[in-house]
Amino acid sequence: MSTDRARGQTVQWGYLLRMRCPYCGETPLMEHWFQFQHGCKRCDYRYEREIGYFTGASWMVMFPLVALVGFAMAAALLILVPHLDALVVAAICSVAMVGVGVLVMPLSMALWLYGDHAIHPLNPDDRYDKELVN
Ligand SMILES: [Zn+2]
Repeated sequence: MSTDRARGQTVQWGYLLRMRCPYCGETPLMEHWFQFQHGCKRCDYRYEREIGYFTGASWMVMFPLVALVGFAMAAALLILVPHLDALVVAAICSVAMVGVGVLVMPLSMALWLYGDHAIHPLNPDDRYDKELVN
């Protein structure tokens, strides 16, 4: 087992919380809000492994989290303000869920990348090729 592979199998929680490269921890994952960089400019680790790679982040991380927040918020509103109409509760929670989704999406993409990195880190052959992107 190579050093690269062994290093990739542990999640570096500090790197994740700082939204940095899962391999070296130096390069930010995000270029802009919702815009992941193609790869790490320092260690050549490729972030988006294939087209549609981060779709799983939406389905497996963000949507369940947003639904959980929405149901919890609806339950809290119905308990704390029992005379509130259910349609008003639904409207308030829907707007809040969209906001939570926007805020959580970058973190869900990072969690997806880190999970994949922990399960099967990239081989040196699969690294990011800067010349193809720039
Ligand atoms: Zn890196």
